[in-house]
Amino acid sequence: MIDTAATEPEPCALCRKASRSRVHPGCRARIAEHLADLPVLHAELAEHLAPSRGGDGGRAGTRTAPIPCSLEVLSLTSRGGIEGVLAGWEASTRELLGWDAAPPRTVDLSVGVSARFLAVNLTWICDHHPAVDDLARELAALTAHARRILTGDRPERRIAVACPCGHTLRVTISTPGARCDNCGQQYGHSEALQLPLANRAAA
Ligand SMILES: [Zn+2]
Ligand SMILES: [Zn+2]
Repeated sequence: MIDTAATEPEPCALCRKASRSRVHPGCRARIAEHLADLPVLHAELAEHLAPSRGGDGGRAGTRTAPIPCSLEVLSLTSRGGIEGVLAGWEASTRELLGWDAAPPRTVDLSVGVSARFLAVNLTWICDHHPAVDDLARELAALTAHARRILTGDRPERRIAVACPCGHTLRVTISTPGARCDNCGQQYGHSEALQLPLANRAAA
């Protein structure tokens, strides 16, 4: 008999599902989706913040009622917000590839260009970027956060589930996965949601 165990592939780096590639196609597609969505969300948020943009740029001193969450919108749409996350991952990917750093860009331009850079290099990132799990998690959280502000939804409720080691994990319905702080066990999305509910009294 041939020993197949030796050639068994590593599980997906993100969800721990069996996978032929380092990141399985479903997880990779989800990153691609977030990269496509973030520039759109950024533009929608920016519009949200400045409904009457298009003037000559001078602050006319208009006092419109502040929209709820405008501070959150501002922090997401200014430099270092959605822009910072995407540009940061572009920078680290460029560094790993030994490429020149990206030239300085405006925030609005940077969001689109960085997202496209990451989308174009997603195969390499999934196969080689040592922090692809952080990248996937950050982009998922950022997309969900931006979407929540635009739809006015409240943050997803966290559910306390029990790891067999006795530790309590807090996960959301859309969690990409979770790791137990206590025993280090990594759970994929469906595995995490299949854990038994933690006893609330054991706090
Ligand atoms: Zn996966
Ligand atoms: Zn555990």
